[in-house]
Amino acid sequence: MTRNEGFGADEIEAAFYSAGGQCECCGKSLSFANSRRGGIWGRWEAHHGSRATPVILCVGDPENCHLNCGHDGDWSNEGITPRVHKGGGYVR
Ligand SMILES: [Zn+2]
Ligand SMILES: [Zn+2]
Ligand SMILES: [Zn+2]
Repeated sequence: MTRNEGFGADEIEAAFYSAGGQCECCGKSLSFANSRRGGIWGRWEAHHGSRATPVILCVGDPENCHLNCGHDGDWSNEGITPRVHKGGGYVR
């Protein structure tokens, strides 16, 4: 599983705010403070995709865009930059 490798904290923070505090795939609102914590709303990860800057993707169910979209449902997938949400269109 890849976790924020190669990105600095300031780079991740800048990417989070440039994404408007929302998942870049499904548009769900996220909480900066809740990155990588379990069991609360708005969890997210900074994902590499194919870009030089982090892609902000949600982690919580049911969307879990980091896994389902960023890694195409398989952690052994090296990672893509999602353009379309694959989780069945569940967007709030
Ligand atoms: Zn999402
Ligand atoms: Zn990733
Ligand atoms: Zn998604």
